[in-house]
Amino acid sequence: MSNLFLYNTLTRRKEAFKPLKGKTVGLYTCGPTVYDFAHIGNLRTYLFEDILKRTLGYNGYRVKHVENITDVGHLVSDADEGEDKMMKALKREGLTSTKQSLLKLADRYTAAFKHDLTLLNILPPGTWVKATDHVKAMVALIKRIEKNGYTYETGDGLYFNTAKLKDYGRLARLDSAGLKAGARVAMGSKKNPTDFALWIKAVGEKQNHVMRWPSPWGKGFPGWHIECSAMSMKYLGDRFDIHCGGVDHIAVHHSNEIAQNEAATGNRAATVWCHGEFLTIDQGRMGKSEGNFITLQTVVDQGFEPLAFRYLTLQTHYRQRLTFSWEALRAAANALQNLQEKISGHEKPKVGCAEYEEKFLNALNDDLNAPQALAVTWDLAKNQKFPLSAKKQTLLKFDRVLGLGLAQTETKAGRVPVEVTQLAEQRQQLRAAKAWAKADELRREIERQGYTVEDTAEGFSIKKTQ
Ligand code: AMP
Ligand code: ZN
Repeated sequence: MSNLFLYNTLTRRKEAFKPLKGKTVGLYTCGPTVYDFAHIGNLRTYLFEDILKRTLGYNGYRVKHVENITDVGHLVSDADEGEDKMMKALKREGLTSTKQSLLKLADRYTAAFKHDLTLLNILPPGTWVKATDHVKAMVALIKRIEKNGYTYETGDGLYFNTAKLKDYGRLARLDSAGLKAGARVAMGSKKNPTDFALWIKAVGEKQNHVMRWPSPWGKGFPGWHIECSAMSMKYLGDRFDIHCGGVDHIAVHHSNEIAQNEAATGNRAATVWCHGEFLTIDQGRMGKSEGNFITLQTVVDQGFEPLAFRYLTLQTHYRQRLTFSWEALRAAANALQNLQEKISGHEKPKVGCAEYEEKFLNALNDDLNAPQALAVTWDLAKNQKFPLSAKKQTLLKFDRVLGLGLAQTETKAGRVPVEVTQLAEQRQQLRAAKAWAKADELRREIERQGYTVEDTAEGFSIKKTQ
């Protein structure tokens, strides 16, 4: 069996993956700021993280996955000068500036985000963490950073002094001297262009900010970067294995997280920092302000199955840019349909195709080479040498990572809903971790939804209850 290699942005190298604690992996993925719907660029990043998580599972690791929901404190500008994204959304939607309407807005977009994940067959994290539920942990972490001498207080907040860290910004290979020379960054009350707010005081234009908590630095709210540091370490410990996000997080958000972690504990927290490249459209970055904002709902409205988008993202390596086009999505939808048809006609699986299984694992273990894994999948699907049952056995096994719903096409009584398949997959993970009671709970939930799950040699099968 091959070893898993992952590209670590910190070292700019592919490294053999070795968890800190045996077969358990601590994984933190930066979640959404719930001020709007996710666009398909965001969703590409969550899909890459899902392939990572499934590949870890496929390699026999038990994954402890934590993801945040940012519902406060994410300022619009990187210089921490701008308006809070959530407050901006309140204005955009013509809602009253109250805590209640802000929490409602956050709940609405959180639900929409989770629905997108379900439609895309993205396995949810074991633990969702909401920023507004963890302000105490953030204040405690800021106090540690302050006690160690890495902060300064101004009229509008408590700032992290990046000049105090010898190699601040090494994740991004930031040249702080160059940054100072060409500084076009709004400085506000900061001493250095790369300094950032740990705590933002509810004063001046922020005095009416609807979310305010008491703190040693006065009433206010936490900065965005401290959220992820505090919540990742609270749930995964001061040292854990992998931290992920999109490439835009390298220069600011993750550089700042590392700075905070080092200032508080003396180390960077995560061993491996993985980043997914952007999805672009017509060479430009997808974003609301760019006027090319495509959501999963837009994709569905155009008549596509959500999983066609999942297939599309698998065709490009996660560290390469993916230029989205409707033609490419159409081709992906056709390919997925062909693959599903290849599976559905086959007889009951018996034994697999070991040679292909090895090639598939080698592809994934080479820094999640999903395009190569797809190529192996197709090689096998078209291969005339193997009996159909053997091919089916192996293809269904591959789908535990690909997540293309191939097992669902098996049921004669129509497709099994994605939600039910997800429950069955979570149950399988729980069984692998010997969490029998929780696994049984999920079995009952599946039954409540009208389906029966059976354990098979290749994983599980789901049938509509007669
Ligand atoms: P946000 O809600 O803006 O924090 O973004 C959520 C996730 O999507 C983060 O991991 C970002 O790095 C990522 N992201 C933002 N824009 C894109 C894009 N165009 N393509 C891929 N990932 C993106
Ligand atoms: Zn984060």
